[in-house]
Amino acid sequence: MIRRADGPLSVEEIHERALGDMPGLGIATVYRTVKLLLEHGQIKSVVLDDGVARYEAADLGHHHHFRCLNCDRVFDLDVCPVEFSDATKLPHGFVVEDHELTLFGTCPTCTDQV
Ligand SMILES: [Zn+2]
Ligand SMILES: [Zn+2]
Repeated sequence: MIRRADGPLSVEEIHERALGDMPGLGIATVYRTVKLLLEHGQIKSVVLDDGVARYEAADLGHHHHFRCLNCDRVFDLDVCPVEFSDATKLPHGFVVEDHELTLFGTCPTCTDQV
């Protein structure tokens, strides 16, 4: 379910999608499953500036998120606009090891509706 998503999903979104396969599925069950998967390290939580916890597979590798300001969905991007490679040294002795980045804008679905 989470693996097939095009971006991290909130518990509500997982619930909505799962209902198609499992009518009658309660949201409490989704919460329990998410908690279990987190404990087993299979998924991790992604919290963006809107404060909503979303979840994605833990082994996705380096990627960034794009949040649509219109529909609030979050997508995975496979482009990385950051040019610092690992161990890039910045002035004043800062050594870069990783970065996080979230882009904001309009998703393809919302762009089509304009
Ligand atoms: Zn959108
Ligand atoms: Zn990057």
